[in-house]
Amino acid sequence: MNELVYITRREHFSAAHRLFLPEFSDEENDRVFGKCSNPNWHGHNYILFVTIKGPVDPKTGLIIHLRQVSKLIEEKILRRIDHRNLNLEVDFLKGKVPTSENVAIGIWNELEQDVRNLGGILHCIRLEQSENNIVEYFGT
Ligand SMILES: [Zn+2]
Repeated sequence: MNELVYITRREHFSAAHRLFLPEFSDEENDRVFGKCSNPNWHGHNYILFVTIKGPVDPKTGLIIHLRQVSKLIEEKILRRIDHRNLNLEVDFLKGKVPTSENVAIGIWNELEQDVRNLGGILHCIRLEQSENNIVEYFGT
């Protein structure tokens, strides 16, 4: 029997955003989104944890090659999101308020099939927008 193990790759990126709904006034946006609704943008240093689960290969002792996972995250996510404006420049966030929740779901959707193609199962996207504000998404 192959034991099921969870493995996590940590990455980071920096990005700008503004959380707002265009139909709201600046005051309403401030009430809902707080500082993140600043009309002149601002940035965060995000930390991204991608957790993959799978059985341990009895021969190699590995679930998946983390180097391949790292390359995948670099190509599919970091190249498109790092040092970008999440409202304006990231195609997989188009039409969404770029909250940590929506960014985590977007990253999940971008990675899920490719992780499967590498032989793993995507388990969790954890996104830390700051030390104190963290979201986790486990898929539907
Ligand atoms: Zn913010």
